[in-house]
Amino acid sequence: MADYEMHLDSLKQRDSKIFDAIIAEKNRQMDGIELIPSENLVSQAVLEALGSVPTNKYSEGYPGKRYYGGNEFIDVIETLAIDRAKKLFGADHVNVQPLSGSPANMAVYFAMMELGETFMGLKLTEGGHLTHGHPVNFSGRNYKCVQYGLDRETEMLDYDAIEKQARVSKPKIILSGYTAYPRTIDFKRFREICDSVGAFCMADIAHIAGLCAVGVHENPVPYFDAVTTTTHKTLRGPRGAIIMCKQEFAEKIDKAVFPGLQGGPHDNTTAAKAVAFGEALEPSFKDYAEQIVKNARALSDSLAEKGLRIVSGGTDNHLLLVDVFKSKGITGMEAESALEKAGIYCNKNTIPFDERSPWNPSGIRIGSPVMTTRGMKESEMKQVAEFIAKALDKHDNETELASIKKGVKEFCSGFPFYK
Ligand SMILES: *Cc1c(COP(=O)(O)O)cnc(C)c1O
Repeated sequence: MADYEMHLDSLKQRDSKIFDAIIAEKNRQMDGIELIPSENLVSQAVLEALGSVPTNKYSEGYPGKRYYGGNEFIDVIETLAIDRAKKLFGADHVNVQPLSGSPANMAVYFAMMELGETFMGLKLTEGGHLTHGHPVNFSGRNYKCVQYGLDRETEMLDYDAIEKQARVSKPKIILSGYTAYPRTIDFKRFREICDSVGAFCMADIAHIAGLCAVGVHENPVPYFDAVTTTTHKTLRGPRGAIIMCKQEFAEKIDKAVFPGLQGGPHDNTTAAKAVAFGEALEPSFKDYAEQIVKNARALSDSLAEKGLRIVSGGTDNHLLLVDVFKSKGITGMEAESALEKAGIYCNKNTIPFDERSPWNPSGIRIGSPVMTTRGMKESEMKQVAEFIAKALDKHDNETELASIKKGVKEFCSGFPFYK
C-alpha cells in the first residue's frame, strides 16, 4: 500500500486556519477506523487532478458542442472520462457531468417523467435513498412515489411483492439500487418486472458501483435503460456522479443534465473521475472489490459471534446493518457516539421495520471499503470487531472509550495511506 504525500505548501503559508483543519481531518482519517460504507480514500493521482487548473474553466455543453471557447483540452478530459466509464461498465452512453448522486437521479426523473407521474423506489427506512421518493425530498414532492419495502421475515427484497405492487400502481419508472441494503440485488428480476408493466428500468448503484464494475456484484448497466452512480463510494473516485443509459435515451438525459438542471460542469472533477475510472480498469481493482466483500463478510461473522444481530443474517456486499438496540439495548445514536469516542466512525441507521425514529434508530450501518483500501484483510476484521464490541459494551465509560481510541490509533498506524 502506497503512502500518499499531501502537497499543501502554499495553502499552509496563505491560510493556516484552513490548512490546520485539513491536516487535522487527514489525521482523523488516518488515526481512526472508518466504517462509513459510502466513504473511501482516493489516490494521490485523483487528489492531484481535483486540485488542478480545469477548475478555472467554463464549458457548458458537451465535447465538441460548447457554449464557451477554449475547450480543446477540456474536451480531451471529458471524452477520456466518458470512454473509460463506457469500457468499465459496458455502457452505450455516459454523461459524466452530474455534480453528485442526487442531481444525477433528478436528471433521470426530469428526462423520463412529467411532474406528478408515478415511480417506485425502496423506502428510506428500509434502505432506499432520500432521492428515491421520500416525502421531504424533491423526488417525493414532485412525483407520485409508490414505495416498496422489504420482507419482514427475511429482511430482504420480496420480488413477487414488488411485482404485484408494480401491476397495481403502473409506475413510469421502477428504481432499484440502494443506500443501506446488504444483500445481492437481482437486477435481472427487476428488468423482467419493468418489462411486464412497461416501466422504465432504472438502477442507482451509488454504493455498489465498484463491485458492479468488475462483476463482484451483477452489473445492470448492459441491460437497464438508465443507471446512475456516484463516483466517490466503492468506485473510489472524487465526489460526483455519472449517468449511463441506452443510446435511445441519451439525448433526453443529456438535455436534462444540461441545460435542464446544471450549468457548467466541474471540469477538475471530470478529470479526477477519468483518473479513477482508469484506476478501476486496472486488474488490481478486481482484487480490491473482492476483498471488500470478503472483509465485510468477515466483519459480519465476527460481530455475530460476539452476539450482535446482523440484519438479514449477513452481507453479500460492502456493508452490514447491526441491530444494536436488540443486541445491546443501546440506540443507534448512542452506539455511533460511543464508537466515535473510540476512534471508530460509522452512522446510525434504521433497520427494516424499525420501531424507533430515523433520528435515533435501532441500528448502525458499517462498511469495509475504506479499511480495504488501507490494505486490511479478514484477520484484521476480527480485530476491528473486537474494538467495536468493546466500545459498545463500554459505551457509557469515557475512560475506557479513550483507551480503546489509543489502541485503534496504534492499530491503524500499521495501515498508512496519506502521509
Ligand atoms: C449516496 C447516494 C446517493 C447520493 O449521492 P450524493 O452524492 O450524496 O448526492 C444517491 N443514491 C444512493 C443510492 C446513494 O447511496
